[in-house]
Amino acid sequence: MTATVIDGKAFAANVRAHVATHVDTLRDEHGITPGLAVVLVGEDPASQVYVRSKGKMTVEVGMASFEHKLDADVSEADLLSLIDRLNNDPTVHGILVQLPLPGHLDSDLVINAINPAKDVDGFHISNVGLLATGQKSMVPCTPLGCLMMLRDYHGSLSGMDAVIIGRSNIVGKPMAQLLLGDSCTVTIAHSRTKDLPGVVRRADIVVAAVGRPQMVPGDWIKPGATVIDVGINRIDKPGGGTRLVGDVDYDSCAQVAGAITPVPGGVGPMTIACLLANTVTACCRAHGLPEPEGLTA
Ligand code: NDP
Repeated sequence: MTATVIDGKAFAANVRAHVATHVDTLRDEHGITPGLAVVLVGEDPASQVYVRSKGKMTVEVGMASFEHKLDADVSEADLLSLIDRLNNDPTVHGILVQLPLPGHLDSDLVINAINPAKDVDGFHISNVGLLATGQKSMVPCTPLGCLMMLRDYHGSLSGMDAVIIGRSNIVGKPMAQLLLGDSCTVTIAHSRTKDLPGVVRRADIVVAAVGRPQMVPGDWIKPGATVIDVGINRIDKPGGGTRLVGDVDYDSCAQVAGAITPVPGGVGPMTIACLLANTVTACCRAHGLPEPEGLTA
């Protein structure tokens, strides 16, 4: 079997187009422009690249982008004061603090200072609790993107066996909540899981969010299963230079799986598209307007 490739790049372009249509409607019919504020502390090169690309795509869909760059040694009080200003700014509907933060700043404290209604990353403890109890929340972008692709490919996910490898707060755990919400039978595997190959072989859906290059080989995959590869790992190429690979060994998994997301071009582009989707959703909720369909869990 050769797997169907789930094209996250094309899917993300559709999501952004859907978002742009809603942004047009909000502007033309209600005089509202959704706004996303991104806070970057320090000069981590990878974070700078992410923030630039988030800002560019925010503007491309017609939303307002506010970038706040703070020195690496900014005090916690100054950062919290900026968040307070953004919480109270009616032109800002979404707030994202780029992680990781420098070590002297308490990430949990900072994230939990964001107004949960503007927490477009979905990391605030209130949103975590709302998601876990099946209530309306802001949903973390990467798992939301995975869910959208799975729903699009399968239609109903009800009754499917899903195995998520990785139990982080930003990917593994919220992914499990979302799949449970769609009535999958969910297993969360991690570094202490016994017989990981045997556990993964039972899955109709495998979500790999481990951070270990090409860790999952094709012979762990049940024939016909759907493989969602969240991993982004940079490895050396034999002739020099580097390339990006996921957490699954794409070539061997694609021989066995029914469908698979590539890296790059799979989950990655969906993450930013879902950030824009969350911002337009937050804007609609803030103004008591109907939420766009298909852009939330
Ligand atoms: P974390 O490091 O926070 O979590 C990794 C998880 O993998 C942990 O739960 C860990 O288990 C588990 N793990 C590690 N080694 C093994 C092993 N040998 N067997 C089984 N489980 C193992 O990572 P993240 O969740 O933040 O990210 C995961 C990957 O996804 C990374 O490659 C990251 O770059 C990528 N990512 C991609 C995004 C995108 O937009 N596409 C967004 C976010 C992340 P334990 O808890 O026991 O230590």
